[in-house]
Amino acid sequence: MKKINLHTHTVFCDGKNTPEEMVRGAIERGFDCLGFSVHSPMKSGVWWTIRPQDVPAYLDEIHRLQTKYAGVIEIKNGIELDREYCDVNVRDFDYVIGAVHQIVCDDRYYDVDDTPDILRDCCKKEFGGDFMALLTRYYETFSDFVCREDVQIVAHFDLVEKFNAHHELFDTDDPAYQALALRHLDRILDAKPGITFEVNTGAMFRVGNPLPYPAPFLIRALKQRGAHLIVTSDAHCVEALDFGFDKARALIDSV
Ligand SMILES: [Zn+2]
Ligand SMILES: [Zn+2]
Repeated sequence: MKKINLHTHTVFCDGKNTPEEMVRGAIERGFDCLGFSVHSPMKSGVWWTIRPQDVPAYLDEIHRLQTKYAGVIEIKNGIELDREYCDVNVRDFDYVIGAVHQIVCDDRYYDVDDTPDILRDCCKKEFGGDFMALLTRYYETFSDFVCREDVQIVAHFDLVEKFNAHHELFDTDDPAYQALALRHLDRILDAKPGITFEVNTGAMFRVGNPLPYPAPFLIRALKQRGAHLIVTSDAHCVEALDFGFDKARALIDSV
């Protein structure tokens, strides 16, 4: 089986390493293919995305590496496109990972994966303290966005779980929550049966979560529906490139 990671960040957005350092790290780790997936610029101007003016240099650099390392490792030029993206031409990229990182209420933007307090604050101010209402908004927004035509890979479907590994924010086992997430998973697969879902180990490396996204009950449902799954590391540094891959594969096999 080929060793591949299609979800990789660099210093062009919020990663720690340059694209070439990531390529060298991938070669050392025996990868056959490395796909870069820069965070699209965002309307709210958050710090963790590429700046619109840097996109041409990013594309040039990935192209340079494709030429330099031809025959050694396959390099792909992708984008992690957020629903709130701006100032980027999707057709400049080999593939699109569709993601939602923010809950937007009028002109107020709340990152769902930055700190748990931002989520709590959003819940209190915008949803009257009702976490199910917040989660409903998240999944509605998410499934709307990734159903658009040019999204090929669904990013971290249940990103709202990042700070909830021990049910600190809401009860993942609540049948109402599971029904909500499953309804939107079905909605995506009904609209786009050929779409790929990632099993993303990013939060295992970054915050020490025991499991990847999505939660086991969702991976089980994806398997039952015959969805195409890939393991990705959402790597923001060389050390994370294949972090948790064995555990993610074992989880996919066991659910
Ligand atoms: Zn992401
Ligand atoms: Zn990412």
